[in-house]
Amino acid sequence: MYSMSRYAPSANVSELRESATIAVSTRAKALRAAGRPVIDLGAGEPDFPTPACIMEAAHRALDSGYTRYTQVEGIAPLREVIAKRATALRGTAIDPADVVVSTGTKQALFNACFSLFGAGDEVLVPTPGWTSYYQMLALARATPVAVVGSRHRQLKVTPDDLIRAATPRTRGVILNSPCNPTGAVYSRDELSAIVALAAEHGWWVVSDEIYRAISYDGPAASLLAVAGDWPRVVVVDGLAKTFAMTGWRIGWSIAPRALSASMTALQSHTTSNATTLSQYAAIAALTMPEAEQASRSMVAEFARRRDRALAELKSAGVEVLEPQGAFYLFIRVAEASSADPDPGTRFAHTLLEEFEVAVVPGVAFGTPEWIRLSYAAPIEGVLEGVRRVIQARIS
Ligand code: PLP
Repeated sequence: MYSMSRYAPSANVSELRESATIAVSTRAKALRAAGRPVIDLGAGEPDFPTPACIMEAAHRALDSGYTRYTQVEGIAPLREVIAKRATALRGTAIDPADVVVSTGTKQALFNACFSLFGAGDEVLVPTPGWTSYYQMLALARATPVAVVGSRHRQLKVTPDDLIRAATPRTRGVILNSPCNPTGAVYSRDELSAIVALAAEHGWWVVSDEIYRAISYDGPAASLLAVAGDWPRVVVVDGLAKTFAMTGWRIGWSIAPRALSASMTALQSHTTSNATTLSQYAAIAALTMPEAEQASRSMVAEFARRRDRALAELKSAGVEVLEPQGAFYLFIRVAEASSADPDPGTRFAHTLLEEFEVAVVPGVAFGTPEWIRLSYAAPIEGVLEGVRRVIQARIS
C-alpha cells in the first residue's frame, strides 16, 4: 500500500517550512468550518472584489478564445504596458524585453533569487521581512542574513545596519517598501543611500514593490526612480494587492536583459507562461481608469481602518508601528526571553483558540516578539479584533 511514511524529503526541501501566513489562515478556516465565529485578521489579501472592468476584460479574452500557451515571458501588449509604466517611473526608457511576466510576484521573486544567488552567497534581508524571502534564498542554497532595523525607525534598516551584517560573501539585498509586515515606507533618500552602498560593494538589489500603490501619503518611491546608473537592480511588482487580484496570479520583474533571459529560461522549465486569461485581464488593470479609481477607493478605505484601529491600540497603550503603507498593523506583544523565545506565537495561539481572532506570529517574519494583524477585513471585524488583542494582552 502507498504510505506517506515511505516518503523521505530530499535535501532540496528537508529544511523547508510551510508559509506561516498560510498555516494561520488554514487553522482559522478549520475553526470556522467547525462553527466557531473566528475573525480572520491573518490574511494577506484585500477583502474587495476585483474591479468589474478587469473581469469584463477576462470575459472578452475568453470569448476571443485566448486559452492557449503564450510566450513564456508574457504577451507582448502586456509587457509593453508594464514597460511604459516603468519608463514613466524611471524617466528613461525601459524596453519590454526587460520585462518577464510570471505567475504572481512570488514567482518573479523566486526567478530572481534563484537566478542571482547560489551556494556560498549571502543575501541581506531587512527584518522583519516577508516570510518567503528567507525560504526562497534557502531553496537557492544561498544564506539569508536577517538584518533587524531599529524600533525607533519603524524597524527599517539603514546602510550602517546593512554594512555591519555584510561579509565578503554578501551578494545582494532584498528591499520591500511598503513593507510586509510593518507597513513602513522607505523614503527616496533612504532608498538612495542603500543603493549607493550596494553600488560601492557590487551588490544586487531586489526591490519587491508589490505594495507600492497601497501607500497613504501617495505612491511610495520606486527603486526604478532612485537607482540612477546602478544596473544591478531587479524590481518586482504585481497585481494581487493593488487591484484585489490575488487569485489571478500575475506578477513581473524588470531586470537587465541577460538576467531577464535567464529568468525566462528558468520559468520555461517550471510553469511556462502566466495564465493566458489573466494576462489579458492585467492589461485592463494597468490601463483602465476605472481600475485605477477602484484601487484608489480601496486604499482610502484601508486608510480609514488604519486610523480607527491605531487610535484604539494607542489609547490602550499598546506598542504598535504606524503603517504608512500595505494593510498590516505590527504589534509588539512581549519581550523575547530565554524562558520564552517565541512569545508572539504563544500570544497568537491564545488569541485564536480563546479569543477567536487569527493573526500571524511575528516569528514568521524573523521577529518573535511581535504579531501581524491585517486590516484587509471589514472594519467591524478589524475593530473587534483589535479590542480582543487588547483584552488578551491584559489577561
Ligand atoms: N511580496 C510580498 C511582500 C507579499 O506580501 C506577497 C503576498 O503576500 C507577495 C510578494 C506575493 O505576491 P503574489 O500574490 O503576487 O505572488
